Amino acid sequence: MCGPAGAAAVKSLVAVFVAAAGVAAVTRHPVTVVVSFDGFRLDYIKANWTPNMARFQKASAAPPYMRSTFPTKTFVNHFTMATGLYSEKHGVLDNYMFDKHYDKMHYTYEQFHYDDSVVPIWIHNEINGNGRYSGVMMWPGSEFPYQDKYPTHIQKYNKSMLWTDRVDIIMSWIKDENKPANLVYAYFEEPDSTAHLKGPDSQETRNQIVRADATLKYILDQIKHEKLENKINLIILSDHGMDTVTYDRMIHLDEYVSNTTYKSIISGPNAFIHPNPNKFDEVYKNLSKVANTSRTFNVFKQNQLPDRWHMKNNTRLIDIIYLLAKPEYAFWDTYFEFILNGTTKEKFKIGVHGYDNEEPQMRTIFMASGPAFKKSYSAMQFDNVDLYPLICRIEGLTEPSRRIDGTMQGVEQLLSVGNAPTFMGPILGILSALLLHTIAPSL
Ligand SMILES: [Zn+2]
Repeated sequence: MCGPAGAAAVKSLVAVFVAAAGVAAVTRHPVTVVVSFDGFRLDYIKANWTPNMARFQKASAAPPYMRSTFPTKTFVNHFTMATGLYSEKHGVLDNYMFDKHYDKMHYTYEQFHYDDSVVPIWIHNEINGNGRYSGVMMWPGSEFPYQDKYPTHIQKYNKSMLWTDRVDIIMSWIKDENKPANLVYAYFEEPDSTAHLKGPDSQETRNQIVRADATLKYILDQIKHEKLENKINLIILSDHGMDTVTYDRMIHLDEYVSNTTYKSIISGPNAFIHPNPNKFDEVYKNLSKVANTSRTFNVFKQNQLPDRWHMKNNTRLIDIIYLLAKPEYAFWDTYFEFILNGTTKEKFKIGVHGYDNEEPQMRTIFMASGPAFKKSYSAMQFDNVDLYPLICRIEGLTEPSRRIDGTMQGVEQLLSVGNAPTFMGPILGILSALLLHTIAPSL
């Protein structure tokens, strides 16, 4: 088809497509927005506290829960969701961990670059090109370049930025006239932060849960205002659950084992112990003795870590003894001292996570709504490592050059029938490309 008649026909087809889609100003690719509310435990959703989440969950493709990766910590799980890899391969083994000199490492470039072939999905999306742009709002690990690349749109972590402002920025990325985002990852630091200090059952934490619910409503209102309900795939999820720990369940390690024989990094129920030279066997024996007597935690040499945690084959664990507290227990450290300063031992009731990812209290939420997903669909539970291949499928991205751990097996169920590739897909792609080409000079 060529010549004026052909051009007119294409233009009218484009017009039909635009009218049908009503989304002239955004990318021709599917738009997916992934929103994480940190530490949003499964049972926080209640019709009377979180009416918007409850409604959204009901209308979405949603499993009873999503399984976190071990250890059930923030950096670990956000990086797993961003890379499709277990901690063993991406190397982020906790929020606080040892660097190669056995010094403390916390949110550094090195922590997120155990293996330089690991590329988060916001970079992989842009490598796929063809007008694909990513936007990342405060997602843990996004402030660092990967293979020297940053996403096109990025907002670094800034706790004081209003949540509504964050949503407005995300919408502006999607509507960007020159580089519209087709993929957005957004992070909100609550209700985790407050639950750590005040406990998951406190009124303060409840206020943050309600705030997250109001933010979901604000996101949905903005999408509706822009008439993008049939264009945006919105995924609401979290990284882990939360458990309650009281003062009497604190494990004071240095009361049992002299801390002159090892260096340690402790964070909640997880501890990395690096014995001094020639002290490995002695420290291991002493810790094992305490663990057997108290029955409050477990002790592992690297090769004793369970396979199902997908953690042990990581060189950052060499010469490390790993400790994991049992549910409702945690290792005492300076952070807890700080909390205790503001209360009493009797009232000391805090939130902790990091436990075995099979623990029910560590379960978290996942709900997905939009053209790519089935509506009101009760799915089977799956692992958060599978988010990466799910996004690749929706956005039509190639397989990454390195093999990922996540698979489509657990998440295929979520997809709407219309999301499967059809012969109309390429035609719509060509039409929207023509459209962009037609309107671009006038922008
Ligand atoms: Zn978290």
